Amino acid sequence: MGYKDLIDSTKNYLLYLKEIGIEELPYKGRGKTAEKQELLSLEAVRKELGNCKRCKLHGQRTNIVFGCGSPDASLVFVGEGPGEDEDIQGEPFVGRAGQLLTRIIEAMGLKREDVYICNVVKCRPPGNRNPEPDEISACRPFLEKQLSAIRPKVIVALGTHAAQTLLNTAEKITSLRGRFYRYGNDIQIMPTFHPSYLLRNEGKKKDVWEDMKLVMKELGLEFPRRTE
Ligand code: SF4
Repeated sequence: MGYKDLIDSTKNYLLYLKEIGIEELPYKGRGKTAEKQELLSLEAVRKELGNCKRCKLHGQRTNIVFGCGSPDASLVFVGEGPGEDEDIQGEPFVGRAGQLLTRIIEAMGLKREDVYICNVVKCRPPGNRNPEPDEISACRPFLEKQLSAIRPKVIVALGTHAAQTLLNTAEKITSLRGRFYRYGNDIQIMPTFHPSYLLRNEGKKKDVWEDMKLVMKELGLEFPRRTE
């Protein structure tokens, strides 16, 4: 194939992609350029979400709680939905449960800004009730798009709803936690207890730490040294 033929066939391929609605090439690498591209991708997902009214949760929200943290994170935490503090501040995991999540992240030798944090539903269920199936299915495509923009190595699913949504299962968190499951080709999911459950069940913190040690091992993180 000559140089001109190569240019023509590349041009035709790009026109074909545009015709079927693909505006960007599916390349995704790492590093500074890739980081910028991922950031733009997350921004594109947020833009597509817009002032979302795709489910009934939009009616009583103060803010959409999209997600926060590094767009280049190897580790993503996915919770169930925003609570009162999160709804007011527009940021996930900022209340008491969020402070506990921050301590768990720091115990792993990381900072909140090293990871990405989001929820299955992005608007607060009234009275902190569980998100309903129609709300989860309306919001779920945006979670999936966020995860494909970030492409982490590990996702920690916090609590039953996050684990069931990501793993497409009806199993309870008690039987799911403690081992990895595949999400797509190269992402591992570790289900564990939700921090708000830990606030009511102190004894389960040990189980969560065991799960986080498996996550650290998977990510090649060093275990922090004990100081006493
Ligand atoms: Fe839209 Fe999700 Fe909020 Fe429902 S929960 S209104 S789908 S952003």
